[in-house]
Amino acid sequence: MNGEAPVTVVGLGEMGRALADAFLAEGRPVTVWNRTAAKAEGVVTRGAVRAGSVAEAVTASPLVVVCLLDYSAVRETLEPVAPQLHGRTVVNLTNGTPVQAGEMAEWAAGHGADYLDGGIMAVPTTVATPEAFILYSGEQRVFDPLRGTLDVLGAAKYLGAEVGLASLYDLALLSGLNLMFDGFHHSVAMATSQKEGTAVGFTELLVPWLTNMAQLLPAFAAEVDADLDRDAEPQLTQGLDVQLVGLANIMNASREAGVSTAPLEPSLAGLKALLAEGRGVWSAPASVRQLRSGPPVG
Ligand code: NDP
Repeated sequence: MNGEAPVTVVGLGEMGRALADAFLAEGRPVTVWNRTAAKAEGVVTRGAVRAGSVAEAVTASPLVVVCLLDYSAVRETLEPVAPQLHGRTVVNLTNGTPVQAGEMAEWAAGHGADYLDGGIMAVPTTVATPEAFILYSGEQRVFDPLRGTLDVLGAAKYLGAEVGLASLYDLALLSGLNLMFDGFHHSVAMATSQKEGTAVGFTELLVPWLTNMAQLLPAFAAEVDADLDRDAEPQLTQGLDVQLVGLANIMNASREAGVSTAPLEPSLAGLKALLAEGRGVWSAPASVRQLRSGPPVG
């Protein structure tokens, strides 16, 4: 039904250009706007219409996809055209926080526009490939008719009516990624502290190790859910003493290798906190609970 529905893309950075190209490749009429007009040249060559102003851009289509640097840029760009957004749908794929998403949704509703917030789990080169998925949240009545259109960019995953959910999950997924990269950097620094060690050779061992260990996560996750739902006793545990000795060995070996232990300090603090709670064992639910109740830092 949405096969030929026109789309406007506001923001033609690396990601916005990939989004516009994905819609163009589908044969859809696409209108684009970017603060720096020159960045539109490529997509215009491929069939997009360059709007002369933001107002012209948003009035060209019932669906306005926005992908800018941050929410300040989104507000700065859309506020002057608020009256023209009335009756249209804004899908904001800009990276931001759940609170920012909530404020944006309220602002849009105040101007008679429907609003979905999104989190792109892809890089520009994987947009519109089977690797890409995009998280959405906001009213289901807004999402449902757009699902087919949005699927063009990458599998559209609807998380629920609470508009902050997409950014929350997006940022939580990025948190997992960042901490994995920190682990990669630290382990490579350790492994390459000997002249025999190469990062490439070590990574040939690291990838299958992490891939195997990642298979445990769904079982840990089920225990976290059971704990939150009904305070169930976890079965997947390990003695805190074993964990503490193991971590001390990693940290000592790290020092001996002249490598900072900084990335490991939060793990040590977490285990010590579990010990201070009087626990004898480590479990995923206890660690998650402890993080959720701990004081926010920074
Ligand atoms: P770029 O830096 O390539 O592009 C930033 C865009 O924001 C440009 O269109 C820029 O316009 C615009 N912009 C910045 N400030 C303003 C402003 N004050 N007013 C109007 N426009 C402004 O970033 P990306 O395209 O890579 O990223 C865009 C969004 O997509 C970000 O929120 C990012 O987190 C998210 N994202 C990006 C991914 C990636 O791999 N690149 C992956 C997943 C999400 P101008 O050209 O005029 O400077």
